[in-house]
Amino acid sequence: MENIYNLTLSSLEEYFLTQGDKKFRAVQVFDWLYKKRITSFDEMVNIKKDLLEKIKQDFTLKNVVIEARQSDHDVEKFLFRLEDNEKVEAVLMLHDYGNSICVSSQVGCNMGCAFCESGRRKKVRNLKSGEMIEQILLVEEATKKKITHIVVMGIGEPFDNYDELVKFIELCNHPKALEIGSRHITVSTCGIVPKILAFAKLPYQVNLAISLHAPNDEIRCQLMPINKVYPVEKLMDAIREYLKMTNRRVSFEYILLDGVNDREIDAIALAKLLTGINGYVNLIPYNETNHLKWKRSSKIAIAKFYDTLKKNHTAVTIRREFGREISAACGQLRSEKEEK
Ligand code: SAH
Repeated sequence: MENIYNLTLSSLEEYFLTQGDKKFRAVQVFDWLYKKRITSFDEMVNIKKDLLEKIKQDFTLKNVVIEARQSDHDVEKFLFRLEDNEKVEAVLMLHDYGNSICVSSQVGCNMGCAFCESGRRKKVRNLKSGEMIEQILLVEEATKKKITHIVVMGIGEPFDNYDELVKFIELCNHPKALEIGSRHITVSTCGIVPKILAFAKLPYQVNLAISLHAPNDEIRCQLMPINKVYPVEKLMDAIREYLKMTNRRVSFEYILLDGVNDREIDAIALAKLLTGINGYVNLIPYNETNHLKWKRSSKIAIAKFYDTLKKNHTAVTIRREFGREISAACGQLRSEKEEK
């Protein structure tokens, strides 16, 4: 039995052909799954009985359930329980331009970033594309809100689960499935260089965000072990190549950590590093967690860092904060629940 949400339209078409049926059956089923949002296969009244029985033998429909919800006016956090009782999270954020969801791509994470709550738990397994899709379907069903934007920035490193990520993107984007514009989809990576180059070749105009967090190897190695494999210069080369191939713009996430990466010389070094790159910096006030020693930079330090980047001709925004009251930082809800 396979989760039916793991299947792209073409793989479902193939399934029906091998059943001796017609290709268009897949579009009918997709319509039930993604447009009518059935909760049981029996609702598919235009599928004849014996075929319906076969579908019920081969596929499962509901694999993920909502285990907990926490909300705070414009943000709501969801904890999901998977079939094997593992847990992941998603966050829904309400903006004036639409509703975005931050989805998880793995159970745990092997990247081991020093400041990150998710990385305290090693990767248990990759999520299947269907488990990523179900996060979106469940949140829409639970909140009756239409999701317009997707960011793959929850638990996990999406480029460490590349094939499932690509299927997920196809299902998000496909007009017969979720039909969310590729420019409304963003994938965030800690910087796995070969996958950045592969990603550039995909036929989707999906946005790329790079978790940079430091302007040089010295600081980045302290924060992100991946930097020992793909140091800053290699990462920047890959990004230059990506930009050449796609003509898009990348964003650089930069968490400001008190006394670690928030000094004026860091801002100047960052501006220099990004010279000539079509991108912008997204400054993130750090969400402190109980288990980790890092402190968020002061308001003044954040404002100064911002000004220094501006003065040095670097495009920059400060990320609006969501969910500080509800432990919405990556991995926090899951650790709270599991450590109780
Ligand atoms: N592995 C991917 C995506 C998941 S992390 C990546 O590294 O990009 C999503 C973003 O949240 C990353 O930029 C990560 O560095 C950041 N992040 C992790 N913990 C955080 C915290 N406590 N406060 C603010 N941002 C955090």
